[in-house]
Amino acid sequence: MDIVDIKTLEKKVRNLECPFCSYKAKFVSHYIKHVVNRHPLDKCPVCGYKGINVLIHLSRQKDRVHKILYAIYGSSTKRRHQRPRKLMKIRSELWG
Ligand SMILES: [Zn+2]
Ligand SMILES: [Zn+2]
Repeated sequence: MDIVDIKTLEKKVRNLECPFCSYKAKFVSHYIKHVVNRHPLDKCPVCGYKGINVLIHLSRQKDRVHKILYAIYGSSTKRRHQRPRKLMKIRSELWG
């Protein structure tokens, strides 16, 4: 997959369209489930980073592309009350 265009990515994620295939969801929870299950994080989709914990890698980057992917993948592992503040921030920017 090829994530180069931040505007396209942001628009797709806001509209709950999968960045990696043609799937479109109605609900954020379905959306996250789809992306995480169908497109597992074996490496960073943005820069190709291959480490033990790609999710932590995503969470530590400052650029928007990484942050948007963190909003998706980070949401899958934490219960609502365990989500870090920076995850909640990017989530609310994307999905209100
Ligand atoms: Zn997909
Ligand atoms: Zn990366």
